[in-house]
Amino acid sequence: MSLKGKTALVTGSTSGIGLGIAIELARQGAHIVMNGFGDVDAPRRQIEACGVQTAYHGADMSKPAEIEAMMAFAAEKFGGVDILVNNAGIQHVSPIEGFPTERWDAIIAINLSSAFHTTRLAIPHMKARNWGRIINIASVHGLVASKDKSAYVAAKHGIVGLTKVTALELATTGVTANAICPGWVLTPLVQKQIDARAAAEKISTEQATRELLGEKEPSLQFTTPEQLGAMAVFFCSAAAANVRGQAWANDGGWTAQ
Ligand code: NAD
Repeated sequence: MSLKGKTALVTGSTSGIGLGIAIELARQGAHIVMNGFGDVDAPRRQIEACGVQTAYHGADMSKPAEIEAMMAFAAEKFGGVDILVNNAGIQHVSPIEGFPTERWDAIIAINLSSAFHTTRLAIPHMKARNWGRIINIASVHGLVASKDKSAYVAAKHGIVGLTKVTALELATTGVTANAICPGWVLTPLVQKQIDARAAAEKISTEQATRELLGEKEPSLQFTTPEQLGAMAVFFCSAAAANVRGQAWANDGGWTAQ
């Protein structure tokens, strides 16, 4: 399968899962609009090594006006977004009664509302071409809960719901919307949780990693960004043209329990 001539916008593609997905889409020939914070040059080189063009926009996904500017930028650079991957996300772990209200607002804005804004702005171009793929990076936490993750679980359940509505509204078009629900993936977002656990329990990072996996993920293995990238590529394929509104886990058995 080739995605030559297509443009993919991957939010939060400077790191972790977003970068893994951007690389796999680029390997299929899609030009990539990158977004996210931190170092841009190294991830950009990794994507461009696949022989595609990139453009970068540093929109803060908690700010609708910046998201609008990013979508306009993508249209100006490449004529529009054919594949939209809503991936940018943050985490904060705390019981509800002590959960900082500004962290709640930030998680809902970045992990959920941003996908509403990119989606509403991407649909007209996709409908006009009668081809498009909207891929929302939810989580197992879009399907089940864990304690101390109220905002994250609410946002991820929300994005699974948004995925279903998007898919239904576009069901008679060539535009599909689906969600990917990873279990643990060893990215900076999860490394922070491992480090916090090691510090709290005064144990080694290795022991904290074993405990983290053992608690929830029966395979005792991390899912990799490359594996999630391959799932995104499948959603872009002709074989997935009638897969609509699904939330597919890649979680080592987490949600089978
Ligand atoms: P990460 O921290 O490695 O990457 C997050 C990306 O989002 C980075 O590029 C970061 O710069 C960007 N980002 C953060 N805030 C942003 C903002 N306000 N505006 C624009 N970009 C912003 O994390 P990750 O683990 O790769 O997470 C990516 C997605 O996958 C998230 O939605 C996360 O919830 C989801 N997810 C992760 C795991 C996991 O185990 N790592 C599991 C399930 C789902």
